[in-house]
Amino acid sequence: MADRIRVSAGFPVPRRHPVASALLRGLCNRCPRCGKGSWRLGYLAVVPACPACGEMLGHIRADDGPAYFTVLVVAHIMVPAALVVERHWHPPLVPDLSAAILAAAMLIWQLLPRIKGAVVGLMWALGLSGDELQGDIDRHG
Ligand SMILES: [Zn+2]
Repeated sequence: MADRIRVSAGFPVPRRHPVASALLRGLCNRCPRCGKGSWRLGYLAVVPACPACGEMLGHIRADDGPAYFTVLVVAHIMVPAALVVERHWHPPLVPDLSAAILAAAMLIWQLLPRIKGAVVGLMWALGLSGDELQGDIDRHG
C-alpha cells in the first residue's frame, strides 16, 4: 500500500504511524518502520536510511532527549538501590561509591542507545524531525 499524503486546509499533514510499535522497535535497536534493519550506525549515530526498507531516518534529531530519559531511568534504579545497600549492609564509603559509579556507568552504557532508539522511533511515528521549534523561533522572533 502506497503512503498517501494527507492535506488539511491546503497544507500537507505529516504522516503518522503506530506509536507503540515504532517505540518498541526503536527500543530493540530496530528500524521503527520495518523492524528488520538497525536504526543506528556505531553507538549512537542514526543511519541515513534503513538498510532493510530504505526509510529515511538520518534527518531525525533527538538532541538531549535520550540523555535526559536515560538519567531519569538510571536515577530511579540507583537511588533506591543505594538506600537499600546502605540500610542493610553499611559498606565502607570508597568501595560503596566505586561500585555505585561502576553500576551507573554500565546502566547508562546499556540503556542510552536503546532509549535513543525509542525516542527516534517515537519521533518517526509522530512525523517529527527535531527542528520544529526552530521554525517557531524563526516565525515569532
Ligand atoms: Zn526499515
